[in-house]
Amino acid sequence: MLNLRPLEIGVMFWAGRDPVETLAEVKSLGVRCGQLGIPGGLSLQGAAEAWKRALELEQFSLITVFCAFTGEDYADIPTVQDTVGFIPRATRAEREARTLEVSDFAAALGVSSIALHVGFVPEDSSNPDYVAVREMVRRVCDHAARHNQTFALETGQEPAPVLQRFMEDVNRPNLWINFDPANMILYGSGDPVEALDVLGSKVISVHAKDGDWPPRDRPGALGEEKPLGQGSVGIARFIRKLREIGYADALNIEREIPDAAQRLLDIKAAVELLEKLRDV
Ligand code: MG
Repeated sequence: MLNLRPLEIGVMFWAGRDPVETLAEVKSLGVRCGQLGIPGGLSLQGAAEAWKRALELEQFSLITVFCAFTGEDYADIPTVQDTVGFIPRATRAEREARTLEVSDFAAALGVSSIALHVGFVPEDSSNPDYVAVREMVRRVCDHAARHNQTFALETGQEPAPVLQRFMEDVNRPNLWINFDPANMILYGSGDPVEALDVLGSKVISVHAKDGDWPPRDRPGALGEEKPLGQGSVGIARFIRKLREIGYADALNIEREIPDAAQRLLDIKAAVELLEKLRDV
């Protein structure tokens, strides 16, 4: 692990290609830390050794390993409700097993935090799906704790007080939040900077991502993700708020568009923007 500065700029990126090539590309954006996403279908056989070698060779710090699942689809809000995270009943057992496998993979790399989108947790705590997901989250926390890892839930799908209540109910000291300000807006879950007043003390990592609110004339549609600084988050105000709550860990730029070349250009511009805002 490198000695990172307060509000060090990082990038959220995905496994799937050669680890050395992947890290070299991420470093070419001007960063030396980030979060690694593991796609659902990716075999992790032998992966830890290859990633460990690559991280040492490239002198790169991994802050978090993110777990995604086969069958997840972020097309619109009803599709997210049906497919994402621990909520869909049919895939709960396999997704729990996969999460534990990703926790073991992260531990082999010496990474002390795993994270995922848990999906839309029902507000009613007596709902059987709420109870089942709470128990899954507890079991993942307990497994991660044996590796001295934290387990972070990505924000976005629910308003801050709902997530806060759920976390209190799970009641595990290693349960934290990966705070994504754009998701709060894309899902229409509330102002992200105000959400930090509620959730701030439980934020262990953040995404620097931007986006606009869902269109009013298309119920169920998600808002549109934007290059950092061009959406409705208000990145300067987001960073001011992070400072105010005492957050000093990395700002992990996330950009999720299919055009790989444009994605890299947008991340590069985001690095420059954050460098300016961070040093104000
Ligand atoms: Mg995110």
